[in-house]
Amino acid sequence: MAIISTEAIVLKVQDHRETSRLVTFFTKNCGKVKGVLKGIRKDPRKFGSSVDKLSVNDIVFYQYRNTDIHLVSQCDMKEFFLLIRQDARRITAAEYGAEMLDRIMPVEERASAIYDLFLDYLRTLGAEKDLGRLVRMFQVKILSLSGFRPHIEACVGCGCEVRGRARFSLVRGGLVCSRCELRDGASMPVSPGTIATLLHIEKNPWKDCQKLKMAASIKQEMGRILNNFLVFHLGKHIKSAKYLS
Ligand SMILES: [Zn+2]
Repeated sequence: MAIISTEAIVLKVQDHRETSRLVTFFTKNCGKVKGVLKGIRKDPRKFGSSVDKLSVNDIVFYQYRNTDIHLVSQCDMKEFFLLIRQDARRITAAEYGAEMLDRIMPVEERASAIYDLFLDYLRTLGAEKDLGRLVRMFQVKILSLSGFRPHIEACVGCGCEVRGRARFSLVRGGLVCSRCELRDGASMPVSPGTIATLLHIEKNPWKDCQKLKMAASIKQEMGRILNNFLVFHLGKHIKSAKYLS
């Protein structure tokens, strides 16, 4: 058994037995971790946090070897994201991120770049006016960091440079030129503006992407491609996705 201290974002909270809570954390140092906070419902002051979903906390937990549910001995809140909680659309966008991480991240595998991305996303979300743009940025970055990066530099069929009319193939995970175009019903049209936007987001740090303006038509096209691509490659529907425009 090891005693571990780490910063962590709360992804999910469930009641556990009579007085406890079972919490899924996304931790900075150990990836996704499940832990029990014993007695927190009987005595809420036992921990320095009310363990709200999406809050950032400093936690200490006893990591057991024979189970993936550990004992959390300390939990102190650091960030609450009040601005997100005051707006239903922002809450949905934040919950989308939490649900995706809960579904796609393996248990107890350190993924600090993805942790930093989620924290950047939550910190930007409170004041962001264009939520659709922010969600697309998060989707592009998470695909890239989790190894499901779509191939959009050249045709995935023949490697030629794709100019003008192109389609995005879900099966092949990238662009196909008009010659290689699959007629399997799993490809969709993609405009040069969308391709350029995807590449820009992939190549630039989160902070620099904030300056990027996105036309409504590009946001819409990106949404269609990214939502389908995520479902196709992760094999999982993110329930909250349907509430996002
Ligand atoms: Zn081709």
